[in-house]
Amino acid sequence: MNRPSKRNLSQIDALSRIYRLYDDYIDSFSHACRKYCADCCTTNVTLTTLEARYIHAFLGEKQRAALSGGMHSRIQTPRFQPAMSTNCHARLCAEGKAPPEEHVPADPGTCPLLEAEACTIYPVRPFACRCMLSTAVCRHTGEARIDEFTMSVNNLFLQFIEHLDPSGAFGNFIDVWRCLDSEDADCPTVPNQSVTVLMIPPEHREKIHPLLNTLNHILSRVE
Ligand code: SF4
Ligand code: SF4
Repeated sequence: MNRPSKRNLSQIDALSRIYRLYDDYIDSFSHACRKYCADCCTTNVTLTTLEARYIHAFLGEKQRAALSGGMHSRIQTPRFQPAMSTNCHARLCAEGKAPPEEHVPADPGTCPLLEAEACTIYPVRPFACRCMLSTAVCRHTGEARIDEFTMSVNNLFLQFIEHLDPSGAFGNFIDVWRCLDSEDADCPTVPNQSVTVLMIPPEHREKIHPLLNTLNHILSRVE
């Protein structure tokens, strides 16, 4: 009898496990985020092409067409279009080089996937949406409040999700989705990069180790 292979996860399966790992992690601490609290649902959301393919695979044809229509309707909307990926940023900092300046619009549009203050793709939403967790209601504080350890955890997951998709790209949700819809679309995205250095400060390394081990284990099983 053949022994089951250890390297038996597709990229999509691995991404699903990474999302589940994060969702389990956030279950363990309290935050102010609730359904219908959606001030954070803007056109500034970013993701990798693998994350867009994950959403694409989950949706039916009609939902995909609606999503494409919504994205297309926001082409002129101000939005964050990153100049570099997370792993590129980490590498440049480690090399002592200044990362390119990023411009984040202070007044972006509402995410086209928000309907009646609820996310229409909630189970498969990108990691950038999952990790937007505030300890105080943003409407009261004016911005999300995320503690430093959770920021380190978020960066760790962002770095691994990018690493999982080495031939893919990173960009604004609207642009990445348009690239997926049409290879000819002129969409500003940046190439993904592998992890060369992790953005974990020394004081968080011990506590983050179990999550790091699990992420490494998931990646070691990708075909
Ligand atoms: S991040 Fe802020 S706006 Fe978004 S759900 Fe949490 S509290 Fe609400
Ligand atoms: S994809 Fe969903 S969770 Fe993310 S910003 Fe849009 S509506 Fe909000």
